[in-house]
Amino acid sequence: FGTTTDSEVIGQLIALSPGPTWVEKIRAAMARLEGAYSLALLTHEALYAVRDPLGIRPLALGRYNGSWLVASETCALDHVGAELVREVEPGEIVEIDRNGLRSYLGRVSPRQAFCIFELIYLARPDSRFSGRLIYLMREAMGAELAREHPVEADLVTGVPDSAIPAAIGYARASGIPFREALIKNRYVGRTFIQPDQRMRALGVQLKFNPLPEVLRGKRVVVVDDSIVRGTTTPRVVRLLRAAGAREVHLRICAPPIRWPCYYGVDMATREELIAAHKSVAEVAAWTGADSLGYLSVEGLLRAVGLSGSRFCLACFTGDYPVPIPEALGKYVLEAPAAR
Ligand code: SF4
Repeated sequence: FGTTTDSEVIGQLIALSPGPTWVEKIRAAMARLEGAYSLALLTHEALYAVRDPLGIRPLALGRYNGSWLVASETCALDHVGAELVREVEPGEIVEIDRNGLRSYLGRVSPRQAFCIFELIYLARPDSRFSGRLIYLMREAMGAELAREHPVEADLVTGVPDSAIPAAIGYARASGIPFREALIKNRYVGRTFIQPDQRMRALGVQLKFNPLPEVLRGKRVVVVDDSIVRGTTTPRVVRLLRAAGAREVHLRICAPPIRWPCYYGVDMATREELIAAHKSVAEVAAWTGADSLGYLSVEGLLRAVGLSGSRFCLACFTGDYPVPIPEALGKYVLEAPAAR
């Protein structure tokens, strides 16, 4: 291998697979691949778009000025003025060349398992899934949270940026006003995917600045998208209290994350996941919040408005769509220096 990216493994596998055409090579490779992948492959003659049979990650087809486009999120099509035609189907191979677009069945799966974490956090809110705008799904998650975990408070705020739509949804459903109370430093990246604990801690410190004039003396509901390791959340609670919040009530628009992801989301090992080892009451005490409420799996599915049979929910339920050997750690394929 010439790189350290896992995409190269797939490229090599396809190149070495048997078959007289690229479609047959890709199909042969798909028969051997397990897990999450959305691929855009370019040969001298054609562009191929390929989605894993479970449809774990998104992949969209667009059209602009008579040309076809492939994007991992639909918002990318909007930016170039392209029209969303449809999603690439789970297990589908799309071939696009100068004669147009052809669709082939790459591999059949008895079930689908789109990553529900895309809808909670990963995808941009201006993307669409199954024809629905993700921003509106997140608002609905906040509204479900307000129904499941009501509390008396003076204002609702969200941890920017990804939890803002859910905070607006919570505010609307509860009748408590929404206010921005944390300002995000836009030059710092996402904290849970920073490589080590020191960098993550520094990231939180640099990431948010609270507004004391908004918070002073107030009972605050703060909505966040998830609690992974529990690194960020206590710091956010401390920031809000230091800026004068009288009470801090945490509301999380995901259920407790108790299982690691083996399908491409670099979250944490099971040992690092706070909800894998602590009860909800213990997590609440750890964060320093006055109360903590997680959205239930049922509430999450009501908010997205689609059947649970279409989704991977494994980080909440441990029910992996592809069997995971118990002894397999998430670092099993990493070189020691990269861990
Ligand atoms: S385990 Fe969680 S993050 Fe990973 S694909 Fe499934 S739902 Fe997404």
